[in-house]
Amino acid sequence: MSKLILKKGREKPVRQRHPWIFSGSVAKGPTKGEGAIVAVVTSEGELLGHAFFNEVSKSLSARMVSFGDVDPLEAIKRGIVGAIEVRRRLIAPQTTGYRLINSEGDSLPGLIVDVYGPHLVIQISTLGMERIKPFIIQCLKEALRPESIYERSESASRKEEGMKQPQVGQLFGVTPQEIIMSENGIQFTVSVQDGQKTGFFFDQRERRAQIGALSKGKRVLNLFSYTGGFSIYALRGGALSVKSVDTSKKALSLIDRHIELNGLDPAKHASIEADVFSYIRQIPSLDEDIIILDPPALVKRPFDLVAGARAYKDLNREVMKRMKPGSLLLTCSCSYPVDEKLFQQILFQSADEAVKDVRILSKHLLALDHPLNIYHPEGGYLKSMLLYIQ
Ligand code: SAH
Repeated sequence: MSKLILKKGREKPVRQRHPWIFSGSVAKGPTKGEGAIVAVVTSEGELLGHAFFNEVSKSLSARMVSFGDVDPLEAIKRGIVGAIEVRRRLIAPQTTGYRLINSEGDSLPGLIVDVYGPHLVIQISTLGMERIKPFIIQCLKEALRPESIYERSESASRKEEGMKQPQVGQLFGVTPQEIIMSENGIQFTVSVQDGQKTGFFFDQRERRAQIGALSKGKRVLNLFSYTGGFSIYALRGGALSVKSVDTSKKALSLIDRHIELNGLDPAKHASIEADVFSYIRQIPSLDEDIIILDPPALVKRPFDLVAGARAYKDLNREVMKRMKPGSLLLTCSCSYPVDEKLFQQILFQSADEAVKDVRILSKHLLALDHPLNIYHPEGGYLKSMLLYIQ
């Protein structure tokens, strides 16, 4: 097997089980095989583990798949089985849709697998995973006996790995156009072929439950609603009225279906097809008791941090400014370059510019099925806070 030799003194992060090896730490890379699995050794020749090698990705040369003297494919297989065991412990029977494998968070760099009942959706973002896709499919089939597997590998980071084309399509069996799955006993329809990402945003499951529990007798505004996850929980929780705002007509159209599926009252809900940034600005004041603000990533790369941080600040300020006394704001950021500390600083500025007294009631990270590897804090992209607007 080819070897990647680290520079002297650069082995510490790998010994501490950080999965990434940057080009600056590499003394000598393997001579062949973009995306191949290589042995990672110190300058003294000690074996530290195995990694996916990729010279194309600008600064990130390799991603560890196993540590110590373990067969890398065996480690990957064990990683998949381990991830399944964790979910069996965490996911309640009334939840049939969840994230099964969360990339580095489950020590499987570049592999995401979401479960929709008997159907799986996979998303691959590293060349190394792409190369061993048949092996991954085999492991998933053996461990779970799914009815179908569909691929939605379209992330922007694939380009940085030298994979020009997105890979989208059926890998095994037949995935129906509409899947009905359950989350905390609430029914949702998902189209894994046409939906955003793999079809549903599981990472907010616990926040949706939180909003559901707070909604009794309240008016709720769900900004960037997608297919109405928060809206349906709010209606189920006894909200007086719910408004959902999104630019995607397709996503909004599914909310009516979700209302019907869950036997909720359609008269209590309104879908508004609009750009949230201009929608907010044209309304003088918001009379809702609870507002959910869950925009798409406004900072996609560290390079965009300054402009993106300003976008969060302005958006939150415009919403806070219009909120009535005693209302709640669940505000979220799914931009990985914005960490929790920075997000709080941004919200501080929004509150200051909106001239509002704002209290933090709770802070949250990702849902339980999106574990964060303690050796790889970079994996935590989603953070949110529940705020009390005085
Ligand atoms: N909270 C949702 C997930 C939100 S994903 C859930 O729990 O399922 C972000 C959503 O923002 C997507 O549905 C996307 O269509 C929408 N979106 C993106 N830009 C927008 C804009 N400028 N105005 C309104 N919606 C937008």
